[in-house]
Amino acid sequence: MSAILGTYTRRKVSFKKGKGVYLYAHNGNKYLDFVSGIAVNSLGHCHNHMVQTIQRQSKKLIHVSNAFEIPEQEKLARRLTNNSFADYVVFVNSGAEATEAAIKIARRYFFSIGKSYKNRILCIKNSFHGRTIAAIHASGSKKMIEGFGPKVPGFDHIEFRNSIPRFLNLRKKIKKNTAAIMVETVLGEGGIKCIPNKCLRYLRKICDEKKILLILDEVQCGIGRSGKLFAFQYANVKPDIVPIAKGIGGGFPIGACLVNKKASIGMTPGTHGSTFGGNPLAMSVGNSVLDVILKKGFLQNVEKNGKFFKDELVKLKDKHSNKVLEVRGKGLMIGIKLSVDNIKFLNHMFKNKLLGVKAADNVVRLLPPLIIKKNEIKEAIKILDKTLGDFQ
Ligand SMILES: *Cc1c(COP(=O)(O)O)cnc(C)c1O
Repeated sequence: MSAILGTYTRRKVSFKKGKGVYLYAHNGNKYLDFVSGIAVNSLGHCHNHMVQTIQRQSKKLIHVSNAFEIPEQEKLARRLTNNSFADYVVFVNSGAEATEAAIKIARRYFFSIGKSYKNRILCIKNSFHGRTIAAIHASGSKKMIEGFGPKVPGFDHIEFRNSIPRFLNLRKKIKKNTAAIMVETVLGEGGIKCIPNKCLRYLRKICDEKKILLILDEVQCGIGRSGKLFAFQYANVKPDIVPIAKGIGGGFPIGACLVNKKASIGMTPGTHGSTFGGNPLAMSVGNSVLDVILKKGFLQNVEKNGKFFKDELVKLKDKHSNKVLEVRGKGLMIGIKLSVDNIKFLNHMFKNKLLGVKAADNVVRLLPPLIIKKNEIKEAIKILDKTLGDFQ
């Protein structure tokens, strides 16, 4: 009997250590980790630079309040703004908090320009923005909302289907009281569905036209996962607000919300805060992750390896076309849509020592650490080939 509240279905395995792309289990087995704590361990397990940073910083200073200046926080914010559309960053501790900050910033912007009636956020039905009371209503997923009433108002929904990669009736859905459109640049939990570049540019255009804000949730696809620092860079669009989290801490819980100057104007002292958000230890770790990711050639390598991985997976799809329906994604955020049951397939992958994670739409998500090497990708391809062959 476990004393942990039963909110997860857990695989019956636990790990004693990790190194690079490998996890070592208490059962004696070594696994190739293509979960990365769900797109979190961007530098793999126990990366030397990260470990040394944690050791060094934890001996100096771990936490002080945001009532004081925090140089490590200033540094991380500056690096994020220098490398993006953003002018400011606010730090929190998780993805849901980052998307909540995004919603608050958008509403507060319209409040501060005297249009507080503009407060509704238009999101994609069955997307994922986190598990807080507001974020589950933003996601609009019946499964996540059920039993957690009363309904939180302020969210409207549009459909996005991978098969018809455009938004139906988008113009009609934007009302006088709409403040912002909030979508994931690449839908993660929703089944690795990339919003096409053309579509993202259309969203920007319509937001400009209607004078509303564009929020791109890059909690999962941001910070190098897509092969660029931000996935929206592929489309050459500039969003107004971008929540990030998973990859930036490399395993240390960090969330952040990036915002341009225009959208930031409502966020005056006292309008937002977080006790833990942006503490010296977290910020040092975030900086250590960026030290690696922003190194010359690193992201190009992620993009290159992502292409290689995807090409190899497409070959597997052709070989096992009765089981693999589609290979999709960007960089090292890849999903394979199966015709066989994704959960059963993941169990089989596990038996063959490759870890993956499910997503909606019967997809198996493959999210290796960004530091993965070509030969490790080849090893995964071999296992997937074998698993597809064995699997009935
Ligand atoms: C994981 C995720 C979140 C929520 O992050 P938590 O840290 O679990 O709160 C929000 N948005 C997207 C796109 C995510 O993938």
